[in-house]
Amino acid sequence: MKTCVKCGHKSEKNSEKNGKFFCRICSFFVPEDKKDFEEYSEEKVDGRILETFRKNFKPGENQKKGMVVKASQGFPMSRPPFGYKFVDGKLLMAENFREVEEIFEEFLITNISLTQLAKKHNFSVNGLKKILSNFTYIGKIKFNSQIHQGIHKPIISSTLFNHVQNKLERTGIKN
Ligand SMILES: [Zn+2]
Repeated sequence: MKTCVKCGHKSEKNSEKNGKFFCRICSFFVPEDKKDFEEYSEEKVDGRILETFRKNFKPGENQKKGMVVKASQGFPMSRPPFGYKFVDGKLLMAENFREVEEIFEEFLITNISLTQLAKKHNFSVNGLKKILSNFTYIGKIKFNSQIHQGIHKPIISSTLFNHVQNKLERTGIKN
């Protein structure tokens, strides 16, 4: 039996990619990019969330096109970002979604340090950086290093997001 490194699904049919085993769903979504691959393998998903998806999953070449839609519709590429939750395979706003906007605004408007802001909201500095640069919050999704329009609701405005990206670059946090 081979265990999928991402979701824990056990099957003889699991296939190997870059030295790691993936079930047929997880292997279908493996990113080409090496760095994305590492991140993808490390971010575990709950196998139970995948079960419904697994039943109706019929991979095929022409299905690749619909993959992006699928990603934002249902396939949990990773855990849902802070402020979102998965309900019946859909990415929906979670009860705490307002905190996302607070974090973005606080970072933009005040001079609070990244460390202080992270501490205040109970994140690691890296976790906070990921939040501040996560395209999911403006309704887009990153898939295989490309940004696509998602079908989920944005939590913050593009204007706020762009201002934050500028500040991240200006202050050398992101380059
Ligand atoms: Zn899997």
